Amino acid sequence: MSDRVHGNEVVLRLDNVTRSFAQGTAKINVLRGVDLTLHAGEIVGLIGPSGSGKSTLLQATGLLEGGFGGEITISGTACSRLKEAPRTVLRGEAIGFIYQFHHLLPDFSALENAAMPLILKGKSRTQSHEQAHALLDRLGLAERLSHRPAKLSGGEQQRVAIARALVHRPKLLLADEPTGNLDQATANVVLDELVNLARDHQVGALIATHNLGLAHRLDRVVALKDGRLHPLADVVA
Ligand code: ADP
Ligand code: MG
Repeated sequence: MSDRVHGNEVVLRLDNVTRSFAQGTAKINVLRGVDLTLHAGEIVGLIGPSGSGKSTLLQATGLLEGGFGGEITISGTACSRLKEAPRTVLRGEAIGFIYQFHHLLPDFSALENAAMPLILKGKSRTQSHEQAHALLDRLGLAERLSHRPAKLSGGEQQRVAIARALVHRPKLLLADEPTGNLDQATANVVLDELVNLARDHQVGALIATHNLGLAHRLDRVVALKDGRLHPLADVVA
């Protein structure tokens, strides 16, 4: 684990975040008081067994759903009381999301997919494509710009998803097992590229992953256990 210097800017704060689901008459408390502070440029791994609540935490943090308790502050904006419309704007401006499955639009090219967040924000097609092109280039996809997702390998699809998540220069990157669907060798390479790019962009990144072979590339790793986050050292001790 490294002790790299980060920007002082806090891009994400989770204060006593809770989330429960009703199951019949019972209530499952998945998040029971999650605390986390993430600075610009800080890359944090999120681990925990299947069902421990990693996706729930990332979805709440990504403002994909309301209904959480406690407070989530993204780039200085407290989100617990935000109405749907400003929440959607904040999500579009400040957050990039990568899922286990690429969720690319099948009828659009790699370039169009990666440029989509900028187009949706009303940027010109030329400028959006230019920025997307630069990122895809960096990810080694310069020869794949006009390919549709079905014509790309799994690793290439995830690289396009990475470009799409970062193209609008978000402050916060959330990734839910972004390499979980790739073979181990490809997963290592793609995760490494993701970390490099996230660092260059100075985003704060929270990455759920089972791939701890690359833990040394991350700034720290936190584990979700019993609904709370623990530093990895505490968990393995
Ligand atoms: P992980 O990503 O770590 O595998 P999840 O966040 O997907 O864990 O799930 C954590 C727990 O929350 C599981 O017990 C799951 O069944 C439950 N859960 C997640 N989403 C919902 C939902 N929408 N409704 C009911 N239960 C849910
Ligand atoms: Mg999950």
